[in-house]
Amino acid sequence: MIEFTDVVKSYTQGNKALNGVTMQIEDGEFCFLIGPSGSGKSTIIKLITGELKPTSGTVHVNGYSLERIRKREVPYLRRTVGVVFQDYRLIEKMTVYENVAFAMRVVGARESEIKERVPYVLELVGLVREHATRYPHEFSGGMRQRVMIAMGLICHPKLLIADEPTTALDVTIQAQILELMQSLQKKLGMAIIMVTHDLGVIADMCDEIIVMYGGRVCERGTAEDIFYRPHHEYTKGLLRSIPN
Ligand code: ADP
Repeated sequence: MIEFTDVVKSYTQGNKALNGVTMQIEDGEFCFLIGPSGSGKSTIIKLITGELKPTSGTVHVNGYSLERIRKREVPYLRRTVGVVFQDYRLIEKMTVYENVAFAMRVVGARESEIKERVPYVLELVGLVREHATRYPHEFSGGMRQRVMIAMGLICHPKLLIADEPTTALDVTIQAQILELMQSLQKKLGMAIIMVTHDLGVIADMCDEIIVMYGGRVCERGTAEDIFYRPHHEYTKGLLRSIPN
């Protein structure tokens, strides 16, 4: 579970990237985090992964208190949180299998674990054995994204965070990636946070939408709440901009 209580984060004096954020994301929940550029979405993610500490307030993630976590505990926290990075992080000279295996080696996995886990996570994201021996450049955007999702799953996370995973993809592929995320949530029972600034990709299957604006949560609720009963001007504007 993730719990932010009155979190303030300042990078520089007098400037508040987060200005009193209080929110909860339950185990197993599918949540969208949306908001304009500069509203604090990445700061929230960096607090969850232990990359940053709050200036004040408390952040609890999967049993760890991030405001007082010790440096040596951070790798254990990180094993509970999988991050789906953008696909430019793939190493083009390595096959898909080698890319995922390399990511496991970086976090200290044993060779026997790697042998067992890599085919399993590739299968989870819908990649079959013949994909594993191909190189990333042979893949389309959607397939590359699947490899990145597989890499996010290597540590059996309780929570998977995907930052703008679908922006560069066409609408059909975006829908397939969302479907995949939903099936992973169900199959593995983990929570998912998808970060986006595009309300158009939000599917009504999510449990919760959190809308950030100016370093605060300006609105939160189910897809139905947000689509049919938006309160904040920013959300209303976003809804008007979605083509029918
Ligand atoms: P988003 O992900 O929604 O675009 P961010 O969390 O990146 O928002 O940024 C929130 C605010 O914090 C912005 O005003 C941004 O300029 C500021 N900010 C982000 N990172 C830094 C940093 N490393 N140093 C100083 N200011 C930063």
